[in-house]
Amino acid sequence: MRSWLLGFFLGLQLAAPAAAADWTTPAEAAGFRTTPSYADTLSYLKRLEESAPGKIRVQTFGVSPQGRPMVAVIANANGVFTPEGARAAKLPVVLVQAGIHPGEIEGKDAGLMLLRDFAVTGKSPHLLDHAVLVFIPVFSVDGHENSSPYNRINQNGPDSMGFRGQSQYLNLNRDYIKADSPEMHAWLALWRRWRPDFLTDIHTTDGADYQYDLTWYLEDPNKLDAAVSDWQQKAMAGVVPAYEKRGHLASIYLEFKDGKDPRQGIVNFGSGPRFSTGYAALQNRPALLIETHMLKPYAVRVRAAYDLVALLLEHIGRDPAALLTATAKAEADTAARAQDASARVALTFKPDPASTPYILKGYAFHQSHSDISGSSWIQYDPRKPVTTEIPNWNRLLPDVSIAPPAAYAIPVQWTEVIARLRDHGIAYRRLDCAVAVDAEGYQLSDPKWAAQPFEGHLMVRSVVANPVPRHETLPPGSVIVPLDQPAANVAMELLEPDAPDSLLRWGMLDAIFEIKEYGEPRVLEKLARDMLAKDPAVKAEFERKLKDDAAFAANSQARLNFFFQRSPWYSVQRAGAYPVLRLDAKMRDALSVPVAGKSCPVPEIDSAYRDPR
Ligand SMILES: [Zn+2]
Repeated sequence: MRSWLLGFFLGLQLAAPAAAADWTTPAEAAGFRTTPSYADTLSYLKRLEESAPGKIRVQTFGVSPQGRPMVAVIANANGVFTPEGARAAKLPVVLVQAGIHPGEIEGKDAGLMLLRDFAVTGKSPHLLDHAVLVFIPVFSVDGHENSSPYNRINQNGPDSMGFRGQSQYLNLNRDYIKADSPEMHAWLALWRRWRPDFLTDIHTTDGADYQYDLTWYLEDPNKLDAAVSDWQQKAMAGVVPAYEKRGHLASIYLEFKDGKDPRQGIVNFGSGPRFSTGYAALQNRPALLIETHMLKPYAVRVRAAYDLVALLLEHIGRDPAALLTATAKAEADTAARAQDASARVALTFKPDPASTPYILKGYAFHQSHSDISGSSWIQYDPRKPVTTEIPNWNRLLPDVSIAPPAAYAIPVQWTEVIARLRDHGIAYRRLDCAVAVDAEGYQLSDPKWAAQPFEGHLMVRSVVANPVPRHETLPPGSVIVPLDQPAANVAMELLEPDAPDSLLRWGMLDAIFEIKEYGEPRVLEKLARDMLAKDPAVKAEFERKLKDDAAFAANSQARLNFFFQRSPWYSVQRAGAYPVLRLDAKMRDALSVPVAGKSCPVPEIDSAYRDPR
């Protein structure tokens, strides 16, 4: 339509009597064939805010890499629009987010309908009497605008949809803990401000075909404080039957052990702190992953998201204190753990070898040999619903567990590590002066990197971390992170080398494995001869290695390095010395008070050289 003509029609619409306001959402108006652009989404939300300013507030909490506003809608029946207000009124804060994968956009269109029904049409006016909703209609806004009919091959509509990566090709649902993207920095600032009591993250599946229009996932009880895990298990036990009464069918998340044979059963998909629900677990918060089913019509999927979120809000509103009590208890338990010398924290998890039976409402399927792939080909027949009992291996058990330190110490120069603590809302204090500490550290060896990048990183696939005593002097400005705080588990995930999403594993500390000075072969020849003459043990070890290790014997540089690596010329470089230290309670307490009577000047930079940022 030509723009003057559009203006003419818009002008007519504005001139029409206000009583007949049309609150049809853009997706409803299109019969759910399409989903609106970001601009149209925001203008609908703005209209809602203007019509119900006491119930809806639209806030910008960040800017996308391509310069678009990142928007959250705050909604409450009594105009509570701040975290301080929510806390004072004892209202839980519920964060519902859509479009972290913007091709999976049901949550956005469901959210517009739900906010409308709450705020202006009188359909659900009491939905938010007892909770504050923070709704992110589109998390990955640049990805949302990178729209194409070809972005999701497995999915049944809408006509055009967003792209999984944001504009820097990062998957935001792998970015929680490492926080590379500007979007995640904005999200973490929102999280720090609101500390939501419950998170719901809305997606669309890939994978198998079956009868359910929606599947859902909660983190395993072993990954959570019992209070939070119990709350979320009970919430879903209450909400799912009500959801099904509305004509839907829901299942726990279905990750099939063998995608070509559903009868082999289902497994846990793994999750972890790089994902939304795994991150919320570290922050002591219940979280729900919703996946509407990719092959159901878009209208059905939007309605699925609408009904489940509405029922969750009703559930929370019936007993808001239960949720607040659970999150407060989890925080208190985590902080109190610092006083318990016998405490152990699981860093990794393994599948429970015992399965439980699961009744799958699937479809009949046919397996045949494919002459294209040379493998088997599964074809479902959605006309033939079939109910089958299959094994369920979703339960997890703790695997690698460690004793938490009383505190971590991070030398001031590791600025990126300290910045990540700040991003995640982890409390720490800075040392005013240089302090010598006795601590536990890790000597790392045998690092192996992945051969392919993942989310822009060559991850450390494996490493050996040996605990060692360390006596170090921490420069002024170094950071002490006590673990008697609610975010202690986030600190451990970031800082423990064996945690699967630690900064070390993401390759952010790779430089510590490098040596900076090498010995010239002609110099090492002399070193080797001296060491062989003076140290019979080194001589015996060298001769044994020559005999037992053919690759070593054939590598002249390795033979010379054998001596270099056992010399002070090498050890002084401290390759593999992990810079983060673990402090015991005595050391933590000694560092909890400023050192009196000392002046520790910090150099001032001339103003002409200061970074304008
Ligand atoms: Zn997704």
